[in-house]
Amino acid sequence: MSPAHFVLHDVFGYEQFRGPQQAIIDHVIAGGDALVLMPTGGGKSLCYQVPAIVRRDAGLGVTVVVSPLIALMHDQVGALHEAGVEAAFLNSTLDWQQTQDVERRLARGEITLLYAAPERVTTDRFLTLLDGLHARGQLGLFAIDEAHCVSQWGHDFRPEYRQLAVLHERYAGVPRIALTATADALTREDIVQGLRLQQARQFVSSFDRPNIRYRIEEKKEPLTQLMRFIDREHLGEAGVVYCQSRKRVEELAQALCDAGLTALPYHAGLPAEVRQQNQDRFLREDGIVMVATIAFGMGIDKPDVRFVAHVDMPKNIEGYYQETGRAGRDGLPADAWMAYGLQDVVNQRRMIDESPAGEEFKAVMRGKLDALLALAEATDCRRVRLLGYFGETSEPCGNCDNCLNPPAVWDGTDAARKLLSTIYRVHEASGLTFGTGHIMDILRGKATDKVQQFGHEKLSTFGLGAQYSEAQLRGVLRQLLAAGAVGLHKVTTEGGHSFDTLALTEGSRPVLRGEQSVLLRETTAAAGPKKPRRAS
Ligand code: ADP
Ligand code: ZN
Repeated sequence: MSPAHFVLHDVFGYEQFRGPQQAIIDHVIAGGDALVLMPTGGGKSLCYQVPAIVRRDAGLGVTVVVSPLIALMHDQVGALHEAGVEAAFLNSTLDWQQTQDVERRLARGEITLLYAAPERVTTDRFLTLLDGLHARGQLGLFAIDEAHCVSQWGHDFRPEYRQLAVLHERYAGVPRIALTATADALTREDIVQGLRLQQARQFVSSFDRPNIRYRIEEKKEPLTQLMRFIDREHLGEAGVVYCQSRKRVEELAQALCDAGLTALPYHAGLPAEVRQQNQDRFLREDGIVMVATIAFGMGIDKPDVRFVAHVDMPKNIEGYYQETGRAGRDGLPADAWMAYGLQDVVNQRRMIDESPAGEEFKAVMRGKLDALLALAEATDCRRVRLLGYFGETSEPCGNCDNCLNPPAVWDGTDAARKLLSTIYRVHEASGLTFGTGHIMDILRGKATDKVQQFGHEKLSTFGLGAQYSEAQLRGVLRQLLAAGAVGLHKVTTEGGHSFDTLALTEGSRPVLRGEQSVLLRETTAAAGPKKPRRAS
């Protein structure tokens, strides 16, 4: 039995390695650098814990684990103690006495795994300690957990992670293993650059969660749609419903309770004890629906969550993947259901536009949003798209809405051109921009008071799109917005009320010229509620 297998059995009590664990562990024990991309729950911890123990048994010294999550450090050190492994942590929860005590044990070579916060690792005091160990050949391995924190484009950016490059510069011969569950190409590149892992072997696991069925439908009446989804498919089962705002969380939780479900709210605005209480109940009791903002979920490991529903769209695919990934950890069938509409696109774009971030950052955020919109608008396999975003190629899955019920597709090119020319004509005639409702009224030939007030019934495009339903035009607009072929322009009235209007962009031209076609899913009948048919 190899030393690694021995540790696996003897210390951790497991029969065999899972997926790529063995290859990673062998590589690191032999002194190689590694970048590990593995989905949450894949078993990343063992990838450095086993080498840490094997290397220390071989007289190679301590493993320093950099981790940004204090709660996680505590859990892991506790679990290692129970398994009889010498582990400790250094972070802000220790007082001066305790810190000194850990440092002394470290210097004496009594620790196998030392967990430390990134801001701690890069202090002079700590580096001096490491220098001493290094000089005696007692610095065995660096493990950098949550390595995506080095990427400034991600949601967990930690500036201190940038300074971890010093570990490579100062201790060039000490192997390093970086681990993350965020795997898009941009983040991966940032990790390699930021942590100087150019020489590291990359171990990329599949990010597929085959038991999760992905479904995205058009948002009409979100509460009714959500209720129907739960009622028909998940009555009495545990699930999470994600919303954009605290207010919506409160409203929706109340509405679900009124409908007879056991629903609890969770968002950062609730008192800490209420949050804790609701979380505990969700974990302990059966069949609770947690209505939450994205504040809920980090580090929550409940195996039997049968569905995750989004009534508002997340910011990007990473967010969507992480949140939906909380369903079906036990490997049994689970649903990821999302209702998404034009307003989601408008809201998300506005949040980016109005954020105080720099232009470069905003451009990256817009690109990430667009990728999610493309997933939402897709007429082909969702999983192929999702995994494709993480750089994985796959075959149509047979377990998403589009595979199970291929959507009818219609050609919206003509409607798109007419919409864009209406926006153009209106602006040409009055120098003003208008909202979606007004533009659609003109195109559909509805001479409303407002249309007449501006004389827009005289425009050449008035009534030119009478054959299109409002739902169809909304779909076209959503897709144009998603593709950046139409832009939003904020208008503030004298009363201080502001709203979004439509404006042409650079990206409008190819569509106007008919060089770019617009294919849309037929949403009206397919995704909508089935109305009871009247007897004729
Ligand atoms: P990650 O950090 O990738 O989210 P963890 O390291 O927390 O995942 O592992 C997830 C779960 O899988 C843990 O309960 C862990 O004990 C278990 N696990 C990991 N590797 C194995 C293995 N080889 N055999 C059995 N269970 C494992
Ligand atoms: Zn599919």
